[in-house]
Amino acid sequence: MRLTPIATLRSRITSTARRFGRAPNSVSLIAVSKTRTSSEILALAAYGQRLFGENYLQEALPKMRMLAGQLLEWHYIGALQSNKTQEIANGFTWVHSIDRAKIAQRLNEHRPAYLPRLNVCIEVNLGAEATKSGVALRELPALARAVLACPRLRLRGLMALPAPSKHSDEQRANLRALAEGYHALRAEGIDLDTLSMGTSEDFEAAIAEGATMIRIGTALFGPRGEATLKA
Ligand SMILES: *Cc1c(COP(=O)(O)O)cnc(C)c1O
Repeated sequence: MRLTPIATLRSRITSTARRFGRAPNSVSLIAVSKTRTSSEILALAAYGQRLFGENYLQEALPKMRMLAGQLLEWHYIGALQSNKTQEIANGFTWVHSIDRAKIAQRLNEHRPAYLPRLNVCIEVNLGAEATKSGVALRELPALARAVLACPRLRLRGLMALPAPSKHSDEQRANLRALAEGYHALRAEGIDLDTLSMGTSEDFEAAIAEGATMIRIGTALFGPRGEATLKA
Protein backbone atom coordinates (compact mmCIF):
# COMPACT_ATOMS: atom_id res chain seq x y z
CA MET A 1 0.00 0.00 0.00
CA ARG A 2 1.31 3.46 -0.90
CA LEU A 3 1.55 5.81 2.07
CA THR A 4 0.25 9.37 1.94
CA PRO A 5 2.98 12.05 2.07
CA ILE A 6 2.03 12.91 5.65
CA ALA A 7 2.25 9.28 6.77
CA THR A 8 5.65 8.92 5.08
CA LEU A 9 6.86 12.15 6.67
CA ARG A 10 5.64 11.17 10.12
CA SER A 11 7.45 7.88 9.94
CA ARG A 12 10.67 9.61 8.82
CA ILE A 13 10.37 12.06 11.72
CA THR A 14 9.86 9.21 14.17
CA SER A 15 12.75 7.12 12.87
CA THR A 16 15.09 10.12 12.72
CA ALA A 17 14.23 11.17 16.26
CA ARG A 18 14.87 7.63 17.54
CA ARG A 19 18.14 7.41 15.63
CA PHE A 20 19.39 10.48 17.47
CA GLY A 21 18.10 9.40 20.85
CA ARG A 22 15.17 11.79 20.94
CA ALA A 23 11.51 11.21 21.79
CA PRO A 24 9.48 11.40 18.54
CA ASN A 25 6.89 13.62 20.23
CA SER A 26 9.57 16.21 21.06
CA VAL A 27 9.46 17.31 17.40
CA SER A 28 6.33 19.19 16.22
CA LEU A 29 5.44 19.35 12.56
CA ILE A 30 4.32 22.67 11.08
CA ALA A 31 2.76 22.21 7.64
CA VAL A 32 3.86 25.22 5.58
CA SER A 33 0.79 26.07 3.53
CA LYS A 34 1.91 29.18 1.63
CA THR A 35 0.48 29.09 -1.93
CA ARG A 36 -1.81 26.18 -0.97
CA THR A 37 -5.60 26.33 -1.03
CA SER A 38 -7.99 25.92 1.91
CA SER A 39 -9.05 22.54 0.55
CA GLU A 40 -5.44 21.34 0.50
CA ILE A 41 -5.14 22.45 4.13
CA LEU A 42 -8.41 20.76 5.02
CA ALA A 43 -7.22 17.52 3.43
CA LEU A 44 -4.18 17.52 5.74
CA ALA A 45 -6.29 18.49 8.75
CA ALA A 46 -8.32 15.33 8.09
CA TYR A 47 -5.13 13.39 8.89
CA GLY A 48 -4.86 15.15 12.23
CA GLN A 49 -2.41 17.89 11.19
CA ARG A 50 -3.14 20.97 13.37
CA LEU A 51 -0.16 23.32 13.01
CA PHE A 52 0.06 25.38 9.82
CA GLY A 53 2.63 27.98 8.79
CA GLU A 54 1.97 30.93 6.49
CA ASN A 55 4.34 33.54 5.00
CA TYR A 56 2.04 36.11 3.38
CA LEU A 57 -0.62 37.82 5.45
CA GLN A 58 -2.97 38.74 2.61
CA GLU A 59 -2.92 35.19 1.36
CA ALA A 60 -3.30 33.67 4.82
CA LEU A 61 -6.24 35.69 6.16
CA PRO A 62 -8.98 34.39 3.82
CA LYS A 63 -7.84 30.81 4.38
CA MET A 64 -7.78 31.32 8.15
CA ARG A 65 -11.32 32.75 8.02
CA MET A 66 -12.55 29.89 5.88
CA LEU A 67 -11.03 27.31 8.23
CA ALA A 68 -11.94 29.03 11.50
CA GLY A 69 -14.06 26.09 12.66
CA GLN A 70 -11.19 23.62 12.37
CA LEU A 71 -9.27 24.49 15.55
CA LEU A 72 -6.03 24.85 13.62
CA GLU A 73 -3.03 26.65 15.11
CA TRP A 74 -1.58 29.31 12.80
CA HIS A 75 2.13 30.14 12.76
CA TYR A 76 3.36 33.24 10.98
CA ILE A 77 6.77 32.44 9.47
CA GLY A 78 7.19 35.19 6.84
CA ALA A 79 8.82 38.59 6.73
CA LEU A 80 7.26 41.14 9.10
CA GLN A 81 6.25 44.65 8.11
CA SER A 82 5.10 47.29 10.59
CA ASN A 83 1.79 47.88 8.84
CA LYS A 84 0.84 44.20 9.19
CA THR A 85 1.47 43.71 12.89
CA GLN A 86 -2.11 44.35 14.02
CA GLU A 87 -3.67 41.61 11.90
CA ILE A 88 -0.84 39.23 12.70
CA ALA A 89 -1.17 39.84 16.45
CA ASN A 90 -4.91 39.19 16.21
CA GLY A 91 -4.95 36.14 14.01
CA PHE A 92 -1.90 34.04 14.80
CA THR A 93 -0.87 31.95 17.80
CA TRP A 94 2.83 32.04 16.96
CA VAL A 95 5.21 34.36 15.11
CA HIS A 96 8.58 32.79 14.22
CA SER A 97 10.21 35.69 12.42
CA ILE A 98 10.87 38.49 14.92
CA ASP A 99 13.97 40.28 13.63
CA ARG A 100 13.90 43.69 15.31
CA ALA A 101 12.75 45.30 18.55
CA LYS A 102 10.33 47.67 16.84
CA ILE A 103 8.33 44.79 15.34
CA ALA A 104 8.23 43.02 18.72
CA GLN A 105 6.93 46.19 20.36
CA ARG A 106 4.23 46.65 17.75
CA LEU A 107 3.05 43.03 18.05
CA ASN A 108 3.02 43.52 21.82
CA GLU A 109 0.83 46.65 21.55
CA HIS A 110 -1.59 44.92 19.20
CA ARG A 111 -1.94 41.56 20.94
CA PRO A 112 -5.53 41.62 22.29
CA ALA A 113 -5.92 41.27 26.06
CA TYR A 114 -8.55 38.52 25.68
CA LEU A 115 -6.06 36.24 23.92
CA PRO A 116 -3.14 34.40 25.57
CA ARG A 117 0.28 35.94 25.04
CA LEU A 118 1.62 35.67 21.50
CA ASN A 119 4.28 32.96 21.23
CA VAL A 120 7.32 34.29 19.40
CA CYS A 121 10.68 33.14 18.11
CA ILE A 122 13.55 35.36 17.07
CA GLU A 123 14.74 34.72 13.53
CA VAL A 124 18.50 34.43 13.26
CA ASN A 125 20.46 35.09 10.09
CA LEU A 126 23.22 32.51 10.16
CA GLY A 127 25.33 34.55 7.78
CA ALA A 128 24.35 32.64 4.68
CA GLU A 129 23.99 34.73 1.53
CA ALA A 130 20.61 33.27 0.58
CA THR A 131 18.77 34.54 3.66
CA LYS A 132 18.63 38.25 4.22
CA SER A 133 16.16 38.26 7.07
CA GLY A 134 16.92 37.69 10.71
CA VAL A 135 19.24 39.14 13.30
CA ALA A 136 22.96 38.30 13.49
CA LEU A 137 23.92 35.91 16.28
CA ARG A 138 25.94 38.61 18.06
CA GLU A 139 22.86 40.87 18.24
CA LEU A 140 20.70 38.10 19.62
CA PRO A 141 21.08 38.77 23.38
CA ALA A 142 20.03 42.43 22.99
CA LEU A 143 16.99 41.56 20.89
CA ALA A 144 16.02 38.78 23.31
CA ARG A 145 16.04 41.33 26.16
CA ALA A 146 13.83 43.68 24.12
CA VAL A 147 11.33 40.87 23.48
CA LEU A 148 11.35 39.81 27.12
CA ALA A 149 10.35 43.38 28.03
CA CYS A 150 7.09 42.94 26.05
CA PRO A 151 4.42 41.63 28.46
CA ARG A 152 2.01 40.43 25.74
CA LEU A 153 4.69 38.33 24.03
CA ARG A 154 6.08 35.02 25.20
CA LEU A 155 9.59 34.40 23.93
CA ARG A 156 9.77 30.69 23.09
CA GLY A 157 12.98 30.33 21.11
CA LEU A 158 14.83 30.79 17.85
CA MET A 159 14.11 30.22 14.18
CA ALA A 160 16.34 30.07 11.11
CA LEU A 161 16.12 29.25 7.44
CA PRO A 162 19.73 28.45 6.46
CA ALA A 163 20.95 28.62 2.87
CA PRO A 164 19.99 25.40 1.09
CA SER A 165 22.66 22.74 0.95
CA LYS A 166 22.54 19.16 -0.30
CA HIS A 167 25.35 18.10 2.04
CA SER A 168 24.26 16.89 5.41
CA ASP A 169 27.56 17.96 7.07
CA GLU A 170 27.05 21.51 5.86
CA GLN A 171 23.37 21.45 6.87
CA ARG A 172 24.26 20.24 10.31
CA ALA A 173 26.99 22.85 10.81
CA ASN A 174 24.53 25.68 10.01
CA LEU A 175 21.79 24.27 12.19
CA ARG A 176 24.26 23.65 15.03
CA ALA A 177 25.14 27.35 15.02
CA LEU A 178 21.48 28.15 15.76
CA ALA A 179 21.34 25.48 18.47
CA GLU A 180 24.44 27.02 20.07
CA GLY A 181 22.82 30.45 20.10
CA TYR A 182 19.78 28.88 21.76
CA HIS A 183 21.83 27.15 24.44
CA ALA A 184 23.80 30.34 25.08
CA LEU A 185 20.57 32.24 25.84
CA ARG A 186 19.36 29.44 28.08
CA ALA A 187 22.67 29.55 29.91
CA GLU A 188 21.92 33.21 30.65
CA GLY A 189 18.77 32.04 32.41
CA ILE A 190 16.28 32.81 29.62
CA ASP A 191 13.58 30.15 29.66
CA LEU A 192 13.28 28.90 26.05
CA ASP A 193 11.81 25.66 24.74
CA THR A 194 11.66 26.06 20.95
CA LEU A 195 14.18 25.57 18.17
CA SER A 196 12.29 26.16 14.92
CA MET A 197 14.50 24.81 12.13
CA GLY A 198 14.40 22.28 9.33
CA THR A 199 12.49 22.23 6.01
CA SER A 200 11.77 19.49 3.46
CA GLU A 201 15.46 19.57 2.49
CA ASP A 202 17.12 19.37 5.87
CA PHE A 203 14.66 18.32 8.57
CA GLU A 204 16.60 15.16 9.41
CA ALA A 205 19.76 17.21 10.05
CA ALA A 206 17.61 19.65 12.06
CA ILE A 207 16.21 16.87 14.24
CA ALA A 208 19.77 15.62 14.79
CA GLU A 209 20.74 19.12 15.98
CA GLY A 210 17.81 19.47 18.36
CA ALA A 211 14.93 21.04 16.39
CA THR A 212 11.65 21.05 18.32
CA MET A 213 9.57 22.44 15.43
CA ILE A 214 10.21 21.62 11.80
CA ARG A 215 8.52 23.56 8.99
CA ILE A 216 7.65 21.44 5.98
CA GLY A 217 5.93 22.50 2.75
CA THR A 218 7.10 20.66 -0.35
CA ALA A 219 7.39 17.20 1.21
CA LEU A 220 3.73 17.42 2.28
CA PHE A 221 2.05 19.24 -0.59
CA GLY A 222 4.40 18.66 -3.54
CA PRO A 223 6.45 21.33 -5.37
CA ARG A 224 5.22 24.92 -5.27
CA GLY A 225 4.35 26.72 -8.50
CA GLU A 226 6.35 29.69 -9.74
CA ALA A 227 3.60 32.20 -8.95
CA THR A 228 5.07 35.12 -7.02
CA LEU A 229 3.01 36.17 -4.07
CA LYS A 230 3.14 39.53 -2.41
CA ALA A 231 3.00 39.96 1.35
C1 LIG B 1 8.59 27.91 2.59
C2 LIG B 1 9.20 27.84 3.93
C3 LIG B 1 9.43 26.60 4.57
C4 LIG B 1 9.11 25.25 3.92
O1 LIG B 1 10.00 24.94 2.91
P1 LIG B 1 9.84 23.55 2.07
O2 LIG B 1 11.15 23.45 1.37
O3 LIG B 1 8.69 23.72 1.14
O4 LIG B 1 9.63 22.45 3.05
C5 LIG B 1 9.94 26.62 5.86
N1 LIG B 1 10.24 27.78 6.48
C6 LIG B 1 10.05 28.98 5.90
C7 LIG B 1 10.40 30.21 6.65
C8 LIG B 1 9.54 29.05 4.63
O5 LIG B 1 9.37 30.25 4.05
